[in-house]
Amino acid sequence: MKPFPKPDWSAILNEMGETREDYFRAVSPPIVQSSNFAFKKVDDLRQAFADEMGGYLYSRGLNPTVDILRKKLAALDGAEDALVFNSGAAAIFAGVLANVKSGDHIVSVKAPYTWVQKMFDVILPRFGVTTSYIDGKTVDQWKEATQPNTTFYYLESPNSWDYSLQPLREVASFAKSKNIVTLIDNSYCTPYFQRPIELGIDLVMQTATKYISGHSDTLGGVLSGSAAQVRKIFESEYLNIGSGIQPFNAWLLIRGLRTLPMRLERIERSTQVVLDHLKKHPKVEKLIFPLDPSFPQYELALSQMRGACGLFTLVLKDRSMESIVRFCESLRHFLMAVSWGGHESLVIPKCAGMDPKGYDPDQIEHRYIRIYVGLEEPEHLIADLDQALEGL
Ligand SMILES: *Cc1c(COP(=O)(O)O)cnc(C)c1O
Repeated sequence: MKPFPKPDWSAILNEMGETREDYFRAVSPPIVQSSNFAFKKVDDLRQAFADEMGGYLYSRGLNPTVDILRKKLAALDGAEDALVFNSGAAAIFAGVLANVKSGDHIVSVKAPYTWVQKMFDVILPRFGVTTSYIDGKTVDQWKEATQPNTTFYYLESPNSWDYSLQPLREVASFAKSKNIVTLIDNSYCTPYFQRPIELGIDLVMQTATKYISGHSDTLGGVLSGSAAQVRKIFESEYLNIGSGIQPFNAWLLIRGLRTLPMRLERIERSTQVVLDHLKKHPKVEKLIFPLDPSFPQYELALSQMRGACGLFTLVLKDRSMESIVRFCESLRHFLMAVSWGGHESLVIPKCAGMDPKGYDPDQIEHRYIRIYVGLEEPEHLIADLDQALEGL
């Protein structure tokens, strides 16, 4: 792991935002399950209406349990402020919507997260906002795709299937020179392994459903940025869409955060053990993992990420879809499911998302099998992978 200036993880995860004298010195914060907050003075109520970000009025805006989480997540991102949503998709939607208007043009990495693609292709065109897709691996591609009406860049680095990266410092610096707002999906790395604000990106989104929760028991999404950006989004999209995280889910995420570094370090070690084993396996053609020296953008990964873990993609030598299906269905400990970042190891084949008639073994993406390594012992996982490979 390459060191770069780190926040004080221990203080953020164990202390920040936790004013225990306000709640009986309880070690675990209370779940303030209240929709509204009472006032004694009309003037105070008037003040709350005038500035809903200034205090507690109604839980569609601010809520004390959510605020504890919000402070911690902003600090982890190195951002001035953050908002926490009921899902990652909602966080992205608000972040994009707040920064585009009719007639604007967006440049996005190709094949962003499914629901982002849907927003760009189906929803935003109805309001006169268009999107161009690029693979985005060099800053020149971003420059070439930029039109006079481009106001927004959408990045995802690494993505969660082939782990393609964008050169974040260079793209952010070019965007700044053109007054273009940048938003990155940082879900793969979390702020533990990559801190895009420090590299010049304006808005950082991560789904909290994955590593922040860590237990596959709640959804959530984080959007971090400058105080001005966060206030703008809070006062319009956040309050209007009404998709802020609920207090109980926020409490689960605070609990998940306590062990985030431990879990990621454990998963990082296990992933390496599993990868080292699979690399030598005669039935495996290819493994894709951004911090493997064979990864085409390995140097770039080292320059902007401090680590990587959990997710990697496997390609079998056997090119048939039947073998992919047999492999996935014969795993006993890896569950076949979407998502990742929880305690449990997972597998998902790319071909599950397509019409089987369209399967083409010459397109290597069709053969992708995504593996997520969870908190189990790596030997337990390796034995399972071995027996499934043996059955081919
Ligand atoms: C899961 C995921 C999202 C969306 O997050 P939700 O919490 O499921 O809405 C966005 N980006 C990536 C890369 C994801 O894996």
